[in-house]
Amino acid sequence: MASYTKSADRVTAATLHYTAAMVLVPDDAVLQVALPLPLPRFFDYRTPPGIAADAGWVGCRVRVPFGKRQQIGVVAAVGRSQAEPASLKGIVERLDAQPLLSDELWQSLRWAARYYQAPLGEMLATALPNALANGAAAADTETRGWQLSEAGHTALGGMRAGAPRRLASLLHAAARTAEQLDQELPGWRSAARTLAARALVQHVAIAGSPVQIAEPGPALHREQAQAVAAVIAGLGSFQPLLLEGITGSGKTEVYLEAIRACVARGQQALVLVPEIGLTPQALHRFRRRLGVPVLAFHSGLSDRERAAAWLRMARNQAQVLVGTRSAVFTPLPAPGLIVVDEEHDGSYKQHDGVRYHARDLALVRGKQLAIPVLLGSATPALETLAHARAGRYHYLCLRQRAGNAKPPQVRVIDIRKRPLQAGLSRQMLDALAACLARGEQALVFKNRRGYAPVLICHDCGWRAQCRHCDAMLTVHERGRRLLCHHCGARQAAPPACPDCASLALQPQGAGTERIEDALCAHFPHATVLRVDRQSTKGRNGLQRLLDTLGEQPGILVGTQMLAKGHDLPRLTLVAVVGVDEGLFSADFRAPERLAQLLIQVSGRAGRAERPGEVLLQTHHPDHPLLTGLLNGGYRAFADSELGEREAAGFPPFAHLALLRAEASTQAAVDAFFADAKVLALTLRRALAEASVGLNLHGPIAAPMARRAGQVRAQLLLSAAQRPARQALLSDWIPALYELPSARRVRWSIDVDPIDLY
Ligand code: ADP
Ligand code: ZN
Ligand code: ZN
Repeated sequence: MASYTKSADRVTAATLHYTAAMVLVPDDAVLQVALPLPLPRFFDYRTPPGIAADAGWVGCRVRVPFGKRQQIGVVAAVGRSQAEPASLKGIVERLDAQPLLSDELWQSLRWAARYYQAPLGEMLATALPNALANGAAAADTETRGWQLSEAGHTALGGMRAGAPRRLASLLHAAARTAEQLDQELPGWRSAARTLAARALVQHVAIAGSPVQIAEPGPALHREQAQAVAAVIAGLGSFQPLLLEGITGSGKTEVYLEAIRACVARGQQALVLVPEIGLTPQALHRFRRRLGVPVLAFHSGLSDRERAAAWLRMARNQAQVLVGTRSAVFTPLPAPGLIVVDEEHDGSYKQHDGVRYHARDLALVRGKQLAIPVLLGSATPALETLAHARAGRYHYLCLRQRAGNAKPPQVRVIDIRKRPLQAGLSRQMLDALAACLARGEQALVFKNRRGYAPVLICHDCGWRAQCRHCDAMLTVHERGRRLLCHHCGARQAAPPACPDCASLALQPQGAGTERIEDALCAHFPHATVLRVDRQSTKGRNGLQRLLDTLGEQPGILVGTQMLAKGHDLPRLTLVAVVGVDEGLFSADFRAPERLAQLLIQVSGRAGRAERPGEVLLQTHHPDHPLLTGLLNGGYRAFADSELGEREAAGFPPFAHLALLRAEASTQAAVDAFFADAKVLALTLRRALAEASVGLNLHGPIAAPMARRAGQVRAQLLLSAAQRPARQALLSDWIPALYELPSARRVRWSIDVDPIDLY
């Protein structure tokens, strides 16, 4: 039986460090409460009569009156109020007897709120599972089960044969959960009632978890074994490690072995995966191999399920949690290891509210917790690579594919002056035909959903444009509807050109729907499946769709969704179209993203014993990004790209923060940025020498200057040194709240932005 419920002693050592910092509380102290409001301050409340505001309140949730309504907040501190205590309102209710947030997580969240320039209340509301943030009780999450009472053990010897005796002998060996009994002794419930009536069995919280047998994994190859050894050697102290290895090189086996070592020591492990990677198969693999309960945490669960998972980890009732971005806020009272799989993945960055980065926070927490943080990727982020090359991260590499799988052959197809069918060249269609003839599967991969076809008039050049945004509408439902990907506006496609009345309206550019149609026409007898958000709606939608194909020969058509995750053993050909759109983009991260995508999607071909082939169709076969990738792989690409970033003063050689604002009028946006910039310049002067390398760029119109009817602009702050940026931000952002012009815009600050729009 797992022993992790006994690890309370270990927790205390880590806790001491924080409680030692406890403050002396004055007699007239009040509660300083962080509320989930976009205001950079706490709100003072009185405790109920006769109850002191002592340090035991800090980290507890309270329900408080706020205006005409009530709010749930977290007590951030106790102390004297600026206001007359008698004038303060009292709290309505204390929701936690013990702090819900304490120790390292509490410290890390306070740190993150400062780092991302977010009000603590908003940071906490982001970090807590919804149900808890909304005030739900921290429900009981102990595993309950049946055990034999003292009297039961004594009575067992004298019991007559029958179901009650069979149940009693089972429980004599070990306590069991209802689920286990359902399997082992069908019909046990009436026997349990009989025994319970005589007080021979009890339904109680049982320690540990259902006994499960962990399946052994494959014998690790040398590089895997070295990687596991490096992680295990680092247990118990902070150590960032980068594990680089292409898809199928066996990174997950490394995670599993390292986690097993943690679990065996009674420690907890947190595994972060990209949104798309948390498939039922992935979870099943973890559960099968670890032999302890593995909790999941993702947006497909109900609020209650997520809160329960969070609480079980907080109470050390579970040891392993696998989750997406917001799982980085999981409490780890018995910390062992944090794994971040596909650490370069864009889904780790939150794109609204508090714009945190889960990989970066994982590193911050790992440092606070003094545990290793294992970052895995086939295509590490350039930031991460730079750390590894500077020796700050322990670098581990898996050079070979596990088993006998061979790397795919990559070919560039020059389509200049070649006829295309729905964007597909002759060579590509021939390769697809050959693949189907071999009885295998192919993937036609279209880069970026945003490049879906737009509707143009062949006669006058009119293009269907969104009324609310500076953007083209894209064609959907086989040309019947037009949709704006930016504001969601939709409308029926016009029957004729609104400008010249011509009927020659045509979709331009090949979206997945058009590719699917063209492929169906070209291969009338083959199965062609389009994989996008619509065709994969609902729980496990993608898996259900893939199951319909099974092992048959066929063609999948899709975008980003298909770049990773799901194992497709019969997939041997990957054909990439739309490469060119990614080659020429204003975004400094576009080349990195395209390179990562090309490597990821290539990794889908020939995973099993069959060799794979990858075709890249482009008008720019000599583009350095493509030739670099082809000749030197991601490593060569990264070297040259890091050089470009350094020359241009972009991350990781600079530290950015982006102030964005939007309003219904240009004047409101201009007034806000004028004030914001004056403030920033004044503060920069005050920083004197510390401000060297601190630059403001803009304000400029956002890359999409109008969206959903709002005018948008942005101001970029770049700094050669991170501390200088933080020093400026910590004065600048609080001051922005005070600006009258800030009330007439919607503004936000993005620290370490991923997209500069
Ligand atoms: P990654 O996480 O890098 O994509 P996985 O760990 O999922 O790679 O491994 C890919 C496949 O190879 C899996 O089916 C896995 O079981 C298998 N595999 C991994 N390591 C080994 C090994 N040492 N020996 C045999 N098979 C292995
Ligand atoms: Zn026209
Ligand atoms: Zn729009």
